[in-house]
Amino acid sequence: MNIIKILVILILIYFVYRLVRIFSSRRMVESRERTQAGARSGGEDLVQDPCCGVYVPKSQSYSRQIEGQTLYFCSRECCDNYLERKK
Ligand SMILES: [Zn+2]
Repeated sequence: MNIIKILVILILIYFVYRLVRIFSSRRMVESRERTQAGARSGGEDLVQDPCCGVYVPKSQSYSRQIEGQTLYFCSRECCDNYLERKK
């Protein structure tokens, strides 16, 4: 009787241990995903230059309101080129 009780307790401990491990690893993955998502939205937003196709961080881009919408360029020259091409 005693041995069976001990075995049952050991099996229960084993299952609890496995559950804890599954939950902790899942939480680690979730937090890793959260930090990656945070880096993506909290960090630099990349915008594409419609003239040369280069991706530039929004804060470093040259933005210009054209026909009611904001366009982002890698440089002023690109913006001028774009406007030249539109004509
Ligand atoms: Zn450009």
